[in-house]
Amino acid sequence: MKPLPRIRFAHVPTPLEPLARLSAELGGPRLWVKRDDQTGLALGGNKTRKLEFLVAEAIAHSAKTLITTGAAQSNHCRQTAAAAARSGLDCILVLAGDQPERASGNLALDRLLDAEIVWAKLVERDQVLRETFEQAWDSERNPYLIPYGGSSPTGIAAYVSAFEELYNQRAALPGGEMPDWIVFATSSGGTQAGLVLGAAYHDFPGRVLGISVDERAADLRVRIERLAGETADLLEEPASIAALDILVNDDYLGGGYGVMGMQEKEALHLFASREGLLLDPVYTGRAGAGLIDLIRKGFFQPDHTVLFWHTGGTPALFAGQYQSIFT
Ligand SMILES: *Cc1c(COP(=O)(O)O)cnc(C)c1O
Repeated sequence: MKPLPRIRFAHVPTPLEPLARLSAELGGPRLWVKRDDQTGLALGGNKTRKLEFLVAEAIAHSAKTLITTGAAQSNHCRQTAAAAARSGLDCILVLAGDQPERASGNLALDRLLDAEIVWAKLVERDQVLRETFEQAWDSERNPYLIPYGGSSPTGIAAYVSAFEELYNQRAALPGGEMPDWIVFATSSGGTQAGLVLGAAYHDFPGRVLGISVDERAADLRVRIERLAGETADLLEEPASIAALDILVNDDYLGGGYGVMGMQEKEALHLFASREGLLLDPVYTGRAGAGLIDLIRKGFFQPDHTVLFWHTGGTPALFAGQYQSIFT
């Protein structure tokens, strides 16, 4: 595999922990968690891994400014702002929606981390992103564009490496073996593309199941297949991955992106009260709800090990719109 430039700032390897009380409560398979909510950069999350590779590439291109985009409560934008601060780069965030009266959660941290924020209506976001990039280019700020979710092949390579990290930790898991299932929240598909590719490189016999947060499985599978293929090309390490083998469950889209419903609230409460583990209202809360529902439906064999890959999102717990979590 071709080695890529990487700047080390993530706290890795992230811990693996058993979720024995939650498993017992649900009468389900052996549950474990991989703590990518603890990657260390300004409250962490899965984007920190991607940014180790993305920022290295930006610096290799003599960039002075990172530009990226997301929702007002984007974890990706918050981690990008932190990576920029740490690397001595400027950061411009193009956020979709209207500026709220009071900044909270991730948005408050974006400000603390000194990111410049440009607001854009969702339908105009890509255009505003392009204009922002061109302006930065014209004013000699050497911008480097990080796509939505950090999901370029360069960012995705980080999750190929994360899969290898898990593989190297497998002695800690039941029977000293890799889990039967890896379950996590999937959205732009980058994390899943990296894990699927890592799984292919290691002839992983288990299954990699993304619980979709906001997209139809059919669309996401095709995108993940393409992203995994492009990443394999970048790494100069061929792998055969077909959309049909990519597992995405879109049964838990609920009220749409960022809308916290009863299922997410229950998952947040169960993980917190049984394990002292905090999920987030947008991503891991939804994936956790899907995991709980699948266990209750008997989807997993009782003697299987299911690894929940926690992708982060903690600051969104403190966003104004989600305060009903605590009531
Ligand atoms: C971005 C994000 C995801 C989704 O990761 P993708 O690589 O975009 O699929 C999941 N969980 C959290 C907390 C995130 O911030």
